Amino acid sequence: MRLLIMGPPGAGKGTQARGVAEAYSIPAISTGDIFRGISKADEATASELALQVKEIMSSGGYVSDEITNRIVAERLAEPDAANGFLLDGYPRTQGQVTALDEILAKDGHSLDAVISLEADQEQLVERLLKRAKVDGRDDDNEETIRKRQQVYVEQTADLLQTYAERGLLVTVDGLGSIDEVSERITDALEAHLNSE
Ligand code: ADP
Repeated sequence: MRLLIMGPPGAGKGTQARGVAEAYSIPAISTGDIFRGISKADEATASELALQVKEIMSSGGYVSDEITNRIVAERLAEPDAANGFLLDGYPRTQGQVTALDEILAKDGHSLDAVISLEADQEQLVERLLKRAKVDGRDDDNEETIRKRQQVYVEQTADLLQTYAERGLLVTVDGLGSIDEVSERITDALEAHLNSE
């Protein structure tokens, strides 16, 4: 099972990704988590890459395709992803879509479905501001949140159309409790997979 989960910042991709991945016994791979890990290296020992990633993330912009594609290619080559994976937060640009196609095609693989979590922007901003208080994530302040929403609309929202044209898109309403949304995803995904 090779899956993607997409949606605007705050739509709950990470939480839902973990549930779906567990249900299908595949790893949930989040580029946001990978980059947060990279940027955590402390100042003294931090690599050029860590410093770069940290700065980009705190501004709400995207890490370059070059770096992102390389990191994802390396992660997907790990043994635990051989039989499937759920990618969360990747691809986010047209260049990443092409790179992912190439990574998969090399091994004769392709995607089975793309889950799109939909939600109203203002409600998402509110959610993220709440998350900021609970988790203390560096990039969860209002300015960066709005910037991330804008970058998503400009660079990522259109990618859904690409996957819709390929007949892969499974759209799910992302507003509701974690369990409600999770059940919606499972139902929609099963319906999609059975209709293939
Ligand atoms: P959210 O979608 O909630 O904003 P993520 O954890 O998915 O959060 O991503 C956090 C940040 O990590 C992004 O704002 C961006 O700077 C960086 N990032 C994550 N995935 C990618 C990607 N595929 N391409 C470029 N940058 C990325």
